[in-house]
Amino acid sequence: MGSEALLMVDRSSVYESRMFDQYREMRLDIDNMSYEELLALGERIGNVNTGLSECMISKCLTEKTYCSSDQNQEEAMCAICLEGYNKKDKVAMVKNCGHGYHVGCIKKWLSMKNACPICKASASADSLKEG
Ligand SMILES: [Zn+2]
Ligand SMILES: [Zn+2]
Repeated sequence: MGSEALLMVDRSSVYESRMFDQYREMRLDIDNMSYEELLALGERIGNVNTGLSECMISKCLTEKTYCSSDQNQEEAMCAICLEGYNKKDKVAMVKNCGHGYHVGCIKKWLSMKNACPICKASASADSLKEG
């Protein structure tokens, strides 16, 4: 019984120190990093080179002119620039999930990242298939 308890304590302390090491690696000194190092960090973290081409972007968006009666009041705001839509603004809806943004905002976003800013779903699910 006594040795078993000791074993458990040992195991958990090993586990804890391993966790601690992981966190130390993650806790990077971003303030003292160069621009190149930050870029490399971004690439390591991922989702940096997952943008879509102009052609892919227009395929996965439905563009229309905003009309205030179209949407609920809570949805009448672009989650990218946090500006409300004005009547006659060009808005684009991500076909996959139905979330809407200003055309310019979502195009810029998707060129950097193939994911809906609100729900994180891929804007273009078949981008992988088509290459
Ligand atoms: Zn916007
Ligand atoms: Zn969405």
